[in-house]
Amino acid sequence: MQEWAEKLLAVQKLDLQCAELTAKLTALPVRAKEIQSSYALEVQSYKAVEASVNAAVSKSKALEAAGAKLVADKQDFQKKTALIKKNDEYRDAMARLEQYDVDIHANEEAQIVAIDEAEAAQKTLPPAKAKLEQAKAEGNRQLAVLREQDTAMRDELAKAQGERKTAAAAVEPALLAQYEQLRGSRTANPMVPWFVTVDNDACGRCHRQLPPQKCLDVRKGARLTCDNCGAILYGE
Ligand SMILES: [Zn+2]
Repeated sequence: MQEWAEKLLAVQKLDLQCAELTAKLTALPVRAKEIQSSYALEVQSYKAVEASVNAAVSKSKALEAAGAKLVADKQDFQKKTALIKKNDEYRDAMARLEQYDVDIHANEEAQIVAIDEAEAAQKTLPPAKAKLEQAKAEGNRQLAVLREQDTAMRDELAKAQGERKTAAAAVEPALLAQYEQLRGSRTANPMVPWFVTVDNDACGRCHRQLPPQKCLDVRKGARLTCDNCGAILYGE
């Protein structure tokens, strides 16, 4: 390979390395957000468990209070029945007391079911909490890995950028300018090289077939470009 080509190739290798590192660095915050969202979902599902436990406990307590009130009301009413003199009023009072007993019994049955439900619900809370804490620890671990990767890649990028300066200084200015103009084009993917070899008589960038004479000249060391994409060609 010609010396000029080796020098430009060294610059390009570093440019591609920098482009790859930059792309990876850009992806890190996206990944961090994914980790945070996944933890937020765990928090949500824990809160749902907590809410259903609270609802079951409240229901049980409400039934207990309603039961106590029924018993107290019945006792009050019983005291009043002692003062009743008329037969028909007494019959109504007895019917009402019977209804109190039916209601109290129904309430007791409902309380038993509600207590069971509340206990069952409460048992789901510790494993849900453990799962949440595990998710938090895992999320923090993953975020710490991302931070380490971020630091390492920034160091690597700074090093490559420094090396790139030195490598670029060794390239003939006109050639470097031509190459940088190509790399600078906004629509081009920074990971795809502009300085390419001739591969099976085709341009190494756009893969369009090249005229045989051009292939020959490039292999002899001539500095030519692809008519289709503008890539600078070199012979191996
Ligand atoms: Zn091309």
